[in-house]
Amino acid sequence: MKKKPIVVAKYVSTRDPGKVYQVKQDAQGTLSCDCPGWIYRRTCKHVADAARTLREGFVELTDIPTYDELQRMLNDPEEERRWIEAHLKPKTLFGV
Ligand SMILES: [Zn+2]
Repeated sequence: MKKKPIVVAKYVSTRDPGKVYQVKQDAQGTLSCDCPGWIYRRTCKHVADAARTLREGFVELTDIPTYDELQRMLNDPEEERRWIEAHLKPKTLFGV
């Protein structure tokens, strides 16, 4: 089974608050971002912040799963991935 990249963090753009950048981690553990900085320079504050967040061992979520949702996640890793992606709390990094 091919492993899809996982969205590990979301960031609200300070230049355009309607825009949310997503940092993804692929199966090899490599992080990438969809902001212009990453696309042109292969480096950005979002990836740096997401790496730090992952090292510290937590992700910020908007909610906790319900009993039924937890049950589904335990039976299906894909369901867990979807739930976490849907409940990541977007962060704002100053000056990004
Ligand atoms: Zn970025």
